[in-house]
Amino acid sequence: MSKKSDVGDTLYVPVSGEIMMPRDKVVARGGQFILTEAYCPLGHSLISDVEIGGHKGIRFIYTDRDGERETDVVISPVIHKCDKKVLKGQAFKKGETVTVLCPDCKTELPILSTCECGAPVYLFFIDKQLHHNYGHSFCSRIGCVKSSRLRFSQEVLRGILNEHGF
Ligand SMILES: [Zn+2]
Ligand SMILES: [Zn+2]
Repeated sequence: MSKKSDVGDTLYVPVSGEIMMPRDKVVARGGQFILTEAYCPLGHSLISDVEIGGHKGIRFIYTDRDGERETDVVISPVIHKCDKKVLKGQAFKKGETVTVLCPDCKTELPILSTCECGAPVYLFFIDKQLHHNYGHSFCSRIGCVKSSRLRFSQEVLRGILNEHGF
């Protein structure tokens, strides 16, 4: 077991280029970055006991806009991966846009931005302080080639800043 730093949350590890994440929240293994915590806007843990590729996945409810269909899904906690498992309900088809809810409180996750494909990009958090900089995001269009993979919110925000020249 590795010794935990006394400084805890105030230390940051560079995980991908210039992106910094609080130590303890992200595990680096074999060139991959794996999330160990994930929260909805009300602070419920989204980490599931269901494993994907040997790692505990992140659980969400996907619904359609009318709330008529509801699917229980677990996605890979590995950054830049988009593997997922459907636990309950019928899988949405490629190209469909879903509304993403917390499986606990059914609160819709916050929307960070709009993807190039036109669908909302959802955000979730890796600390209970719900800091946007330490969030993760993914496009809500199933199979979106632009950004259905899990990404750091810092990457997305930087992309927006670059694009608009702020
Ligand atoms: Zn919740
Ligand atoms: Zn998209």
